[in-house]
Amino acid sequence: MRKIALEEHFSGPGFEKYLEAVAEMFDPGFLSSAEKFLPEFDEKRLSMMDKCGIDIAVLSQTAPGVQAELDKEAATQAARRSNDFLSEQINRNPSRYRGFGCIALQDPESAAEEVVRCVKELGFVGILVNGHTAGEYLDEEKFQPFWEQLNALKVPLYLHPGNPYDKPHMYSGRPELNGATWSWTCETATHALRLVFGGIFDRYSDVKVILGHMGETLPFMLWRLDSRALTSPGGRAMKKPPSQYIREHIVITTSGVCANGPLLCSLSEMGEDSVMFSTDYPYEDAELAAQFIDNAPISLEQREKVCFRTAEHLFRISLEPQSAAATALSSHSYRD
Ligand code: MN
Repeated sequence: MRKIALEEHFSGPGFEKYLEAVAEMFDPGFLSSAEKFLPEFDEKRLSMMDKCGIDIAVLSQTAPGVQAELDKEAATQAARRSNDFLSEQINRNPSRYRGFGCIALQDPESAAEEVVRCVKELGFVGILVNGHTAGEYLDEEKFQPFWEQLNALKVPLYLHPGNPYDKPHMYSGRPELNGATWSWTCETATHALRLVFGGIFDRYSDVKVILGHMGETLPFMLWRLDSRALTSPGGRAMKKPPSQYIREHIVITTSGVCANGPLLCSLSEMGEDSVMFSTDYPYEDAELAAQFIDNAPISLEQREKVCFRTAEHLFRISLEPQSAAATALSSHSYRD
């Protein structure tokens, strides 16, 4: 089936140094082979997309990106350079690529200005942020200018994992739990819950946040969040149960999770219009992701929503019409 994929990474010039911040989370051999694909936008990336039936990839600067830059001015300049570079790549192949902008939240005011430039000048469909910025999370007051612009422009934020600010004691002696195995999931799910409990969605009613990795476990936890949050001591009074904020303001992608159980749970708990296909290229096996969604035990209508219709709606883009022969072929990729 035809697809739009949303968690598809690249690395622009000058960003290689930031990758060192996450290098210890990967097997060195795996990382060096994946990194070869990051700066490439032609044959390798497009042939992967063709094999997987991905018509459009929404590209984003790979983690940790500009979040790893400690100098505020350098971060602001790096974000602008990355966005200009991405815009050039999209303009070379506008029928296949869209973009998420990257912003330097080290300076929230200029980050808010860059959001506007990304959307209005460069035509990006959203913003992607790799977790906290120097230990500060997006529910904090200083980031309100960023949320104001996102809300006004009605473009989503992809909240992508990054390393925790410090290394929690519970991971000591168990380095294999760091990174994609587990610690990024806890970090990102907690960041998303800070937005829910911190009232971001009360203040900004049009904001949508995208979480990868099948919602970073949140779809599985909605009932328990509702059950216990209302009786937890402290914190601000919530107008709605946590699950309602999550269903109204958070949508998820399938990136890095190729299993029917979590997919069916997510469709059931989040809703059929809240789950979108992604691969997490080049860190995950894109063909496996495509085979998974093409064969998942869901209806044709559900598959169309997951593969492209929900993304078309969210990003206000349309896949070009296909010939009848191509439609028949794409709807049977991996199924014959
Ligand atoms: Mn990713």
